[in-house]
Amino acid sequence: MVSRQVIKCEVCGALTLVRIQVGWQEEFPIRVACGRCGILITGMARLDFENVTGPHVRYENAELLPGNQGSSFHLETSSEFLTMKPGLANGKMMEGVLTPFMRAFQTMGADGYLEFSQRTKQFLHMAKNDWPRVRRINELWLNRKLDLLAKDIRDFLPADGFPMRDEFDCLRGVRALTVRFLSPTLDEEQFERCGTLRGEVLSKATPDQRKAVKEFANHLAERKLLRRFEERILALTAAFVDRFKYLVPAFGLRFYAGRSDDMFEQSCITTASFDDLKQFFVDGFELATDLLVIIIGRNNVFHRSDWNVMTDKRRDVKTLADFESKTKGERVQFLEQGEVFNWILEPALDSKIRNAIAHNAYRYDNATQAITYYPHGNEVESNRHTLHMAEFAEKCLRLFGAVQLAAEVLFETHRIFFFSQRQGSPA
Ligand SMILES: [Zn+2]
Repeated sequence: MVSRQVIKCEVCGALTLVRIQVGWQEEFPIRVACGRCGILITGMARLDFENVTGPHVRYENAELLPGNQGSSFHLETSSEFLTMKPGLANGKMMEGVLTPFMRAFQTMGADGYLEFSQRTKQFLHMAKNDWPRVRRINELWLNRKLDLLAKDIRDFLPADGFPMRDEFDCLRGVRALTVRFLSPTLDEEQFERCGTLRGEVLSKATPDQRKAVKEFANHLAERKLLRRFEERILALTAAFVDRFKYLVPAFGLRFYAGRSDDMFEQSCITTASFDDLKQFFVDGFELATDLLVIIIGRNNVFHRSDWNVMTDKRRDVKTLADFESKTKGERVQFLEQGEVFNWILEPALDSKIRNAIAHNAYRYDNATQAITYYPHGNEVESNRHTLHMAEFAEKCLRLFGAVQLAAEVLFETHRIFFFSQRQGSPA
C-alpha cells in the first residue's frame, strides 16, 4: 500500500507530495530532504494495523497539510526498501513508476523477497516481544545470579540440551539464547564458517597449543577482560535492537540477486540519516578493535603455540602487551598478516570512515545522501572520499555481524577457561 501526504517545509514553505510505501512495520522512521532548501525533514510514522487509516506521521521541520494540494516536489519513502532519488521522482516522472516494493521485488526475486520479509518480520517481532527477557537473562549472567538465570531461561531452552548446573553451562545457554535471538539478522554462512574453523582449530590442536589456549583464557580472566567484553557486546546488541528499524532497507540489500553499478547513485534510504547511525558505527568499531586482543591472542596460539608471541610484523611489537599499547589504526594493520582468525573482523573494520568521524571531518548531504569524508582530518581534495548513506548503513550491519563472530571466539575462550577450572577442581 502507498499512502500520499502533502507536507509544507517550515523553513522555505515548499510543498512536497510524500508517497509512503507502507510495509510490515508498525512504527518506522522517515528521513527526507526538502527539495527546495535541502533541510532534513524527519518523522516517525505509526500504523494502526487494526483500522487501516494510513500512517500517522509526526514531522519535524515540516507540517502535514490536509487534502491533496498541488505540490512542487515529489518523493517516496519506504520502511523496507531503497527508494528513488528525489530529483528523479519529481513531476510527471513519478506517475506510473513502480513502487519501491515492486522495484525491490524485481531485483530480489520471489525467493529473496520471501526470505527478506520473513527474517525481518521475525526479528522485529522478537525484538518487541523477546528482547527484554533475552537482555535480562544476559544481565543475570553478567551479575552471576545463576539460580535466577537457570529459572528464567527455561521458557526458551530445554533442560535436556541445556542443563544449568554451573557457570560453564550457564554461559553456553546464554550465548545460545542470544545467537538464536539474533539469528534472523546474522549471516549463516559466515557463522558456519566460523564454527567449523573453531572446531578444527581445537580438535587438531597439539598439546602445546592446548596448554597455550588455556593459559590465554586464564590470562584474560585474571584481567577480567572476558566479562568486560561480554558486557560491551550486550550493550552493542541493545543498540542494534534499537537501531534495526533504521537499517531495514540496508538489510534488504543482502537479498538482492544483483546490483547495478549506479544503484546507490539512483537510490535513497529514507529510514536513516548519517546522524542516526554514526554513533552505532563508532561504538561498534571501538568494540571490534578492542576485541582484536582475543583474535590476535588466538592467532598466536594457533601459529606459534604461545598466546604472547606476536607475528613479526613490527620490531617494536613482540608481545600481546606491545600490541595492545598501539593505536587502534596500528592494531587493525595486524589483520593484514593473513593469520587464521583475521577474516572475522578484517573486512568490517573501515578505519577511514571511523577516523573521519573521530576528526569531525565529514559532511552529509541530505538531498543526495552522499557522505563526504576526510580520513586524515585535513579537508583537502587528495584526502576526500565519498560514500552513499545506504552503503554506510550496510557497513553498520557488517560491523555488527563481525562483532558477533568475534563474540563467538570470545565465548569459546571463556568456555575454555571454565572447562580448565572444572578439570582442575577435585569434583
Ligand atoms: Zn525547504
